[in-house]
Amino acid sequence: MGYSYYDYSYTTMDDLKRLAKKSTERLTKKGLLLEPVHLVGNKIAKNWWGISWIDNLEKYSDYSNRLPRGKKYLKSDCILDLKIKKGRIDAIVQGSSSKPYEVCVNIKVLNKEKIEDIVQLCENKIESIENLINGKFPDTLKEVFIGKNGLFPSPNEIEFDCSCPDYASLCKHVASVLYAIGAKFDTDPRLFFELRGIDVNQFIKKAVDNSIEKLLVEKKKSERVIAEEDMDRLFGI
Ligand SMILES: [Zn+2]
Repeated sequence: MGYSYYDYSYTTMDDLKRLAKKSTERLTKKGLLLEPVHLVGNKIAKNWWGISWIDNLEKYSDYSNRLPRGKKYLKSDCILDLKIKKGRIDAIVQGSSSKPYEVCVNIKVLNKEKIEDIVQLCENKIESIENLINGKFPDTLKEVFIGKNGLFPSPNEIEFDCSCPDYASLCKHVASVLYAIGAKFDTDPRLFFELRGIDVNQFIKKAVDNSIEKLLVEKKKSERVIAEEDMDRLFGI
């Protein structure tokens, strides 16, 4: 296994895997219900939401130097536990010392107006929740979702903390968690909506509602036109 330039601890992937296994056994014995993230194959994500999550993070220069170090940890099964809830991710990550570290990532939930704006743009372009979570929608919407005012967080909406002694705030454990979130979205894209505070059902329903409302308005308009025409006929104008 290769050593990365930044990794001064010289812990190999095999070492990390061994330590992770021990910690998992210890924590499970303690009664903790762990939700580990293990990669299947070499890719972190294959689903649109998972891929876009990672693309979004990697495009920020604040992160791009530090993120790659996290891949080794993710590939060594170091994410012993990762739980996603609204606005927050809690994780336990195995590092080079025997005691694993605690990582917390806080991500601002999307404000209602912003969601409303995006819902408006979706109108009736997404057919079902299944299509939404499977990333099956027009490219124009993909651009809206990943764009500047889209659904993915920018660095000023993300805060993180790790219990390790690394002086850098974006340590390799945090980096591995940021990648692991993408892997988690790959298995369950609904977690993306949970994290960002979007009710996925409402998202689709509203989109459909809006288009129904529009239809009704148009129907009323055309009815009025007919009524006016009738009046014209009645008065013989
Ligand atoms: Zn750390």
